[in-house]
This record gives sequence, structure tokens and C-alpha cells, in this order.
Amino acid sequence: MESINPRLAVLQDVSDFYGGRHRVEVLRLDRVHPIISGNKWFKLRYYITDALQKRKTTIVTFGGAWSNHIVATAAAAAEAGLKATGIIRGEEPRKYSLTLQKAAELGMQLLFQSRTDYRNKTVPAILQNENTCIIPEGGYGELGAAGAGTIWELIEEPFDIVCCACGTGTMLAGLALSAPPHTHLTGVSVLKSNHSLQEEVTALTGTLANWKLLHDFHNGGYARYNREQIDFMNKFYTATGIPSDIVYTGKLFMAATQLIRHNYFPEDKRLLLIHSGGLQGNASLPENTLLYSQ
Ligand SMILES: *Cc1c(COP(=O)(O)O)cnc(C)c1O
Repeated sequence: MESINPRLAVLQDVSDFYGGRHRVEVLRLDRVHPIISGNKWFKLRYYITDALQKRKTTIVTFGGAWSNHIVATAAAAAEAGLKATGIIRGEEPRKYSLTLQKAAELGMQLLFQSRTDYRNKTVPAILQNENTCIIPEGGYGELGAAGAGTIWELIEEPFDIVCCACGTGTMLAGLALSAPPHTHLTGVSVLKSNHSLQEEVTALTGTLANWKLLHDFHNGGYARYNREQIDFMNKFYTATGIPSDIVYTGKLFMAATQLIRHNYFPEDKRLLLIHSGGLQGNASLPENTLLYSQ
């Protein structure tokens, strides 16, 4: 399998799209790997090395039917020569989503769990053995954050403000922990009213005060979207050539438009938007919704 290629994570200038008053760039993490795209490889890397060091044989993790984390874990485990089991939310569907098909193709064993068992993060007894390493949903945890912090290795230029989309907040925490002095992080939560996120990020960053969360750009909630968001994503693609995903980056790039329009960022600041990948999830959309397929 192809390995990730961090050199493909170029910076792309999108200042014109955002009106030219700020210098705005996008870090194209969507390009580093066809499957383990975006932030997922970074969040997984230390879990994988930890599993290898401890001589574990199997990785177990959790996710939904369209989870970027599930398919990325399947690919990363396969590449490291580890077995992987994905515990999937909900009953087994008659037809697998493309995400689950891909994960199965990569050798991941899929175990379907009722929503209640899933919510309680119950690990089936057969997987609770010493050869197994459990990665929390979304890679949330210290190792995930430490891995996400290495995204900075790809950012050579100085930025005042770095914005990213947040699910579990692991990437935001990792970026905040390893940020250069004077760089501020803004996280756009893609869940509706997920105010516990503040504490979950704080649990990883401690007393650091270089980050902030915004909760008003979820467009209806996790994995939901409206017509305006689809129109925005198509417009953004046409103007910049950058495809975005429905769950995370479409909301991030759209939030940036509104924030810039309302003069949220001081004018002389240099902004970076992290394209954290996730394009495979767009396959859940009806055909021809977007002008691009991935
Ligand atoms: C998982 C994911 C995120 C969210 O990362 P967290 O560390 O869970 O906040 C953002 N963008 C994309 C594309 C993702 O797949």
C-alpha cells in the first residue's frame, strides 16, 4: 500500500476567495494519502507505534458507517502489519457503505453493535485480551493529540491564526499543545451544542489558553447539511479547485467566510485553514450533489 506523503500537503493561497483583506491559506492534508487522508494519519501514528512497541497484534476502534477514522485505522493497521477490528455503531446493514466496504477490503474485521452498547463503548469479550490495543473513538486521547501536534512539521511559515474543524477536538488540542508562541487556534465544532467539547479539549491541553471553540457553524448538526452548505462547497471548489467534505471541512471553510465577513479576525493577521481531509465521506451524498466526486 502507498504510504503517506507529507510533501503533498502544500499550502494553497485562497486570499482572493475570502475577499483579499487577509492573507488566507489552506493546508492540503487531504492530499497526503488516498485513504488515510487528512488529520487521521497524524492522530493514529503514535497509537500504531505504541501498539508495535508493546508487541500487540490487533487494533480495535469505534466508528459509524461513514467514519473517516474507521477506514483510516483499517489502512494504517494494514500498513503496519497489525490486525484491525472496527466496532461499528448500529445493526449490520444489508448493504455496506463504501467506507465499510473499503475497511473490510483492507482486512478490518467489522463488528456491529446496538446503539446502546456502542454508546457505552462496550468491547466484546473476545477482544479483551492482552494482544489487543484499543484506540478511543476518533483517536481521542494524549497519543492522538501528540500525533496531531506533528502537523506543525508541515507548516514552515508563521501564522497568527490557525482554524480547524473539530469532532472530538483531538486535532485542535494537539495543534494547541505544539503551537508556536503567538499563534492562536480557532476550532469550529461540527456538532450541535456539544458544549462538553470545551472540557474534553481542556483535558488534553491543561491550562493552555491559545485556543477557542466556536459552536455556531454546525449547519444542523453532525453530518447534517443544508442547501447553503452544498452551494458553498461547490462555489469554493469552482473558485479554488479545493474539494471539501460534507461533515468537517465544508463547514470550516464556510465558517471562515462568515467570520471574515463579520471582521472577526483583525485585518493584518495571517490565517491558516487546515484541510483535514474526509473526502471519502462525500460518497454518502446523492449522486451529482457536488461538482466533484472526491
Ligand atoms: C476526524 C476529522 C476531523 C475532526 O478531528 P477531531 O480530532 O476529532 O476533532 C476533522 N476533519 C476531518 C476531515 C476528519 O475526518
